Amino acid sequence: MRNRRAAFAATATAVALALSLTACGQNSEGGSEEKKGGPEGATIGIAMPTKSSERWIADGDNVVKNLEAKGYKTKLVFGEDEPDQQVSQIENMITQGVDALIVAAIDNKSLNNVLQQAADADIPVISYDRLILGTENVDYYASFDNEKVGELQGAYIAEQLGLADGSEKGPFNIELFAGSNDDNNTRYFFQGAMNVLQPYIDKKQLVVRSGQTELTQVTTLRWDGATAQRRMDDILTKSYKSETVDAVLSPYDGISIGILSALKSDGYGTRSKPLPVITGQDAEVASVKSIIAGEQSMTVYKDLRKLAKVASDMVDALLNDKKPEVNDTKTYDNGSKVVPAYLLEPVAVNKDNYRTALVDSGYYKESDLK
Ligand code: BGC
Repeated sequence: MRNRRAAFAATATAVALALSLTACGQNSEGGSEEKKGGPEGATIGIAMPTKSSERWIADGDNVVKNLEAKGYKTKLVFGEDEPDQQVSQIENMITQGVDALIVAAIDNKSLNNVLQQAADADIPVISYDRLILGTENVDYYASFDNEKVGELQGAYIAEQLGLADGSEKGPFNIELFAGSNDDNNTRYFFQGAMNVLQPYIDKKQLVVRSGQTELTQVTTLRWDGATAQRRMDDILTKSYKSETVDAVLSPYDGISIGILSALKSDGYGTRSKPLPVITGQDAEVASVKSIIAGEQSMTVYKDLRKLAKVASDMVDALLNDKKPEVNDTKTYDNGSKVVPAYLLEPVAVNKDNYRTALVDSGYYKESDLK
């Protein structure tokens, strides 16, 4: 058992105290034990937000695979999108004496107390994909260029409507959807998309008939597709009588599927009333199939294999007293500190390039997409 874990366990419960003393007694030579580097005997706790979206299941699997290949043991938990559940899962892992934590937060602000416990136990924390806010106790951040994700979505809409390159075309009707307001990524995705779309809205080449253009009006709690579907239903009923929607900014595939259901129920998807341009993110199988079938227009592919590797390498470096590799030390201020980050590149995927991006890269098999 690693000394810093033993020390923390000693404060946790009387039982843990007894155990940790035994462990210390076996390993140390009458003095304080030195921290052992490397994977030997080390366990990494991995907290993922939910199993309701395929991407997080893949994230969990990929991180476990990477860490096990380096010789670590792992504990993987999923929080069912319930912030309190995630807090107690992390608390349990700390009590069980994990050596490092990789956390994809459900609610970016709910983890401050539990991460203080991690810090007190000298357990390093990697914020995985979603930045944890308002605490010093986040060591590194592994993610994608989140603003770029939104820019790719916005740019795709502009291009498909023929607005790019200074064209005067329009006006086109667009509706805007964003992710969960407790996920820090949400504002980056939205900001990125609006960097592209806002100038067209200002020039009235794009019109948001619902009038809902502020981030606070367009978020979707917990990224829930059914919530998005209800909002789209409502918008169609109230703001579209004879008019039609030409584009929908959707931040995530699960939300896009909800929006598509609302549109189809309203008669979209025919020759006289074609589906609007609709974006997405994560290249989830159902959405890639929808893209191939000509319904969803695009998605943003983020190679989760690379993200898992970055996060695992960070942990491995930290436990070996090395500095993890980062490529961004400016962007991600969590309110308490700027968290050093490694950001990967997202890729726009549509009907034309899905094979190269997703199949040739080995991310999916062609048969997965049938
Ligand atoms: C992730 C996205 C994902 C969304 C919903 C975000 O934090 O970055 O990839 O679509 O959560 O799960």
